Amino acid sequence: MVLPSHPRYESLMLRAKMVEAYKNGILSDSGLIAHGRGEAFDYLIGEKTSLNAGKATQAAAAALILAEYPVISVNGNTAALAAHEIVELNKRLNAKLEINLFYSTPERIKNIRKVLEEAGALEVLGLEEETVSITGLKGPRSESSKIGVHQSDVVLVPLEDGDRAEALISNGKFVITIDLNPLSRTSQKASITIIDNLVRAIPHLIIEVDKLKKMSKIELRSIVNSFDNQLNLQDSMELIVQNLITKED
Ligand code: ATP
Ligand code: MG
Repeated sequence: MVLPSHPRYESLMLRAKMVEAYKNGILSDSGLIAHGRGEAFDYLIGEKTSLNAGKATQAAAAALILAEYPVISVNGNTAALAAHEIVELNKRLNAKLEINLFYSTPERIKNIRKVLEEAGALEVLGLEEETVSITGLKGPRSESSKIGVHQSDVVLVPLEDGDRAEALISNGKFVITIDLNPLSRTSQKASITIIDNLVRAIPHLIIEVDKLKKMSKIELRSIVNSFDNQLNLQDSMELIVQNLITKED
């Protein structure tokens, strides 16, 4: 048993959660590996929310409030780590929730739907409705719900794949992602990238949405327009370099 005093306690607890989700048919084997890549980057950013992640979160909240048709895309990792928080954010934004998996099977979609519904989701897309292929993407993972991602103007896609993020951008979507790796293609291509762990980023996003909801559209637009994603990614990379230089133990 791991004691709360263990220096990697939280990380190990999350890992145990992921193994459980894998056993319960929510997460794919590749999802487990993706989590490991995330763990490594979380270590490098210091396992806490950085100032620049805070700025990206604020800009993301503003863009989501301004959106005419916001959609949140959910994969296995997101459902395993933050189902309640995602459903809460979704309600705050009056957005659509769509299951979109890299390695999709009817069984896994069914299991993720159950997790989301148990977390309070009233409507879950990506199951039976008509789908449309995202231009520029091939194969089953190019499909998205006609009344979900396909129709969205702003889409939140945590832990997205680079090809899909790129295609969504070329299809005119404003893409917000959460990804611990500032070098991934998703991070580099997205309109706003929050370099933080999903388990910290979603609760912060909820707080920001609550705060910013009182602002005027002009103020919100100014927050989005003054955000520079490339500059923000650069700050995250500098943070990693600093942590590597100053790490003592
Ligand atoms: P890309 O396709 O964008 O170039 P990749 O192929 O390097 O990325 P993937 O395996 O497609 O990576 O996606 C996993 C991504 O999700 C990684 O960048 C990893 O850092 C990130 N990630 C994993 N777990 C978390 C988490 N809990 N919170 C935020 N990001 C995470
Ligand atoms: Mg990838």
